[in-house]
Amino acid sequence: MGTKVAKFGGTSVADAGQIRKTAEIIQEDPERRFVVVSAPGKRFKEDSKITDLLYLVKTHLEQNAPYESVFSIVKERFLTLEQELGVDAGIEAALAEIESDLRKNPSADYIASRGEYLSARIVAAFLGYDFVDAEGLVCFSSKGRFLSEETNEKLGGELAKHKCAVLPGFYGTLPNGNIRTFSRGGSDITGAVVAQAVNADVYENWTDVSGFLMADPRIVKNPKGIDTLSYLELRELSYMGASVLHENAIYPARQAEIPIHIRNTNAPHDPGTQILSDAPYTDGRIITGIAGSKDFTVIAIYKNMMSIELGFIKRILAILEDYDVSIEHIPSGIDTVSVVMASEQLEGKLDDIVEDIRKKTQADSVEVFEEMALIATVGSGMAKTPGVSARLFAALAKKDINIRMIDQGSSEMNIIIGVENKDFEDAVRSIYGEFVEG
Ligand code: ASP
Repeated sequence: MGTKVAKFGGTSVADAGQIRKTAEIIQEDPERRFVVVSAPGKRFKEDSKITDLLYLVKTHLEQNAPYESVFSIVKERFLTLEQELGVDAGIEAALAEIESDLRKNPSADYIASRGEYLSARIVAAFLGYDFVDAEGLVCFSSKGRFLSEETNEKLGGELAKHKCAVLPGFYGTLPNGNIRTFSRGGSDITGAVVAQAVNADVYENWTDVSGFLMADPRIVKNPKGIDTLSYLELRELSYMGASVLHENAIYPARQAEIPIHIRNTNAPHDPGTQILSDAPYTDGRIITGIAGSKDFTVIAIYKNMMSIELGFIKRILAILEDYDVSIEHIPSGIDTVSVVMASEQLEGKLDDIVEDIRKKTQADSVEVFEEMALIATVGSGMAKTPGVSARLFAALAKKDINIRMIDQGSSEMNIIIGVENKDFEDAVRSIYGEFVEG
């Protein structure tokens, strides 16, 4: 029998009805032996996520304000879940313990982690699976860095003792025993790490959408879903990926060559998206997806004979590093080089950076272009297909869209263009129209 790890996000465990759906999915396939859950998310649009409420409890504690009314909403939700599902998961006693810890002003990480902790206990009780706490098994260094090897060993050792288990996502432990969380959305990472530890055949990530779409549905009407894509393509599409799957969940699965399958708890028969190490594109598809984002800034530097000056680009990069700014792209010409960065990183720093670049590089000119958008058109099928960029540029020209920057990764599986913010949506629609609607 194979082994599947199934991670269920916040909306999949938001209320008793959703947990019943989740349980049905798990019970349908005996290979779904290890389950990772998030804390209950929103039940409806205006609702609160448990994790947000728990962070709010911490804010109240910090301000010496009464936190009890916020915490009582959390308590109520878990007690109702336990009652409506008709299980005894020991929630009342667990809540009492958490409340007594709250009086000792614990860390934000500890408080936030309790959402996943209680959620996993309830789901485990409902399924009749073992509850295995992530505490002591998912390990972080004293500086809060995730320790992959130690975790793999400890988790692997513990899970070998269980036929079926539910684990809480999102957190683990520091060497001093205190709780440490991943960044927001981090239960995805726990799922990947568990999949690696049990050497799963597949890591299923159950959420509330049927996988990745070829373009943002707020821009393109009813975009097609992506059935399969490779890890590399997903990285290139990361401008759109973050809301579906945490970026850091990719690495552990990829390292262990475990496919990730994104699926929809509310539409379990939809095919979803499979992320494979080497996705097939036998249907002759050229592009896999289009992703983009607005609000980038370009600093364009020109200096005569730049190309033979030693260390020119290094000096620019060192300046940006000093200001703690990371770079998205560096398109260059013989005597020009541009650096493209997310504008939010430059707030309050831009003038000083430009001044420093002028001084330290003795450039002939340094120009700044703000309000730029980047669009990545991605597909491993592009690499061997001539004429893709011609089609892409022609489609944009037809709509009178001015391309301000072009960058093609060496893998030839992406073309990144820069356009003005105001042209962003039109540009995405034109590219989609050209390659998908044909
Ligand atoms: N509950 C946490 C969050 O809302 C972690 C997760 O759901 O992945 O960020």
